[in-house]
Amino acid sequence: MLDLAYEAPKPKVIAGAKHDWELVIGLEVHAQVASKAKLFSGASTEFGAEPNSNVAFLDAGMPGMLPVINEGCVALAVKTGLGLKAQINLNSAFDRKNYFYPDLPLGYQISQLYHPIVGEGEVLVDMGPGVARLVRIERIHLEQDAGKSIHDMDPTMSFVDLNRTGVALMEIVSRPDIRGPEEAAAYVGKLRQILRYLGTCDGNMQNGNLRADVNVSICRPGAYETYRETGDHSVLGTRCEIKNMNSMRFIQQAIEYEARRQIALIEDGGKVEQETRLYDPDKGETRSMRSKEEAHDYRYFPCPDLLPLEIDQAWVDGIAADLPELPDAKRARFVLDYGLTEYDASVLTAEAENAAYFEAVAESRDGKMAANWIINELFGRLKKEDHSITESPVSAAQLGQIVDLIASGDISGKIAKDVFEISYATGRDPAEIVATEGMKQVTDTGAIEAAVDEVIAANPAQVEKARANPKLAGWFVGQVMKATGGKANPKAVNELVAAKLGL
Ligand code: ADP
Ligand code: MG
Repeated sequence: MLDLAYEAPKPKVIAGAKHDWELVIGLEVHAQVASKAKLFSGASTEFGAEPNSNVAFLDAGMPGMLPVINEGCVALAVKTGLGLKAQINLNSAFDRKNYFYPDLPLGYQISQLYHPIVGEGEVLVDMGPGVARLVRIERIHLEQDAGKSIHDMDPTMSFVDLNRTGVALMEIVSRPDIRGPEEAAAYVGKLRQILRYLGTCDGNMQNGNLRADVNVSICRPGAYETYRETGDHSVLGTRCEIKNMNSMRFIQQAIEYEARRQIALIEDGGKVEQETRLYDPDKGETRSMRSKEEAHDYRYFPCPDLLPLEIDQAWVDGIAADLPELPDAKRARFVLDYGLTEYDASVLTAEAENAAYFEAVAESRDGKMAANWIINELFGRLKKEDHSITESPVSAAQLGQIVDLIASGDISGKIAKDVFEISYATGRDPAEIVATEGMKQVTDTGAIEAAVDEVIAANPAQVEKARANPKLAGWFVGQVMKATGGKANPKAVNELVAAKLGL
């Protein structure tokens, strides 16, 4: 693994009326496991299915039904743990978290309170070239999702859709190491990127497949450092938890608002009460939902329907051996192997598909040139039509042809853009386009020479001027390029113009 050197960003400081304050943030991210079946039943996890069509008897809370652990979900949780460089617990266990909700027919959620499957890990959160925050992961546990109550379909009735009931979630709990709203959003972004690379969660935030509970507190400068030295939470401020956030923008706005609310409250002589709050994006504010519930409120106890979960090291090793190259390593390798800037490398590794496309183009070609074409031309064009790289009408092999045609001098960079446009619109091969449309650059010096002679003969006054002031030779180059329809090799034109003018 290649590591890039980095420096920690400065924590965000907010000036209150009386003091300066710093933020302390910890996230509990719920990531839906990319499994076709639920955690303890064989029902499908398909999104957008007809309401209540993906419900097994177990999910509906029918008496006598027993949960059966889905091994695939366990493997994906382990894979996620390995991707976050976390400890994998060979012995874990499931607990019942008891509460009533209309969309939770069992009357409890099967979760892992006491013995989670994954222990301590870490996420490196990039905040700019060479600047990153190492956020510690406390644990990852597996649990069931609840269903969905629908309140806005009828003025007098609510409906319940149990399709999501029992779907496997990984709850990824961070330590309170995040020091500002931008960092919180970047943390979610990085986590999402890693999960997508691993293929353990699709990261679709709009569908709620990745959502975060955001814990926010404020403290005076220096308190966080004391916490890091001593591990003593009590030196930090009391936190509020903002529930169920599924947009990076709203996460930032909610933290900003919540921090200012807490500062005003404390500076006014008040006290922050530990509670669960909701963010209202229309009003741009958080409001109290309920006072904080403690573990004992849920009457947690070991789930009697399930044996403790025992996995063996050899099985874990098998999953570890299969881990893909992850974003940090890939980015570092792109910088080293292809000579890319850190910025370009991070753009190209944002999604595994982008990175694969780049490598297919860059293989045995100039890496920087491949990167420029993908970032400046292809991405720009794809973005216009809201397409992802997998939908690109120009394949990696085709973009590679364009790079080759430029490198061999067959087309100029300018003509290459036209070729790219045609290929993008029609899917035709660039090599074929250049041949059929007669776009090949004229490198034949005889033909270029003739064009240069013609322009010089037709413009004696310009010739005089250019001989007195060689900077004006550029005008001749422009005329020759025009006369050749942009197909003349610019280097050859420059040389010939200079020679003919005797410069
Ligand atoms: P609980 O046991 O009440 O769920 P945890 O200690 O497990 O609390 O923490 C839950 C989440 O709250 C974690 O993501 C953690 O990082 C975060 N957290 C804990 N203390 C603070 C704090 N003072 N400020 C902000 N976040 C915090
Ligand atoms: Mg907790």
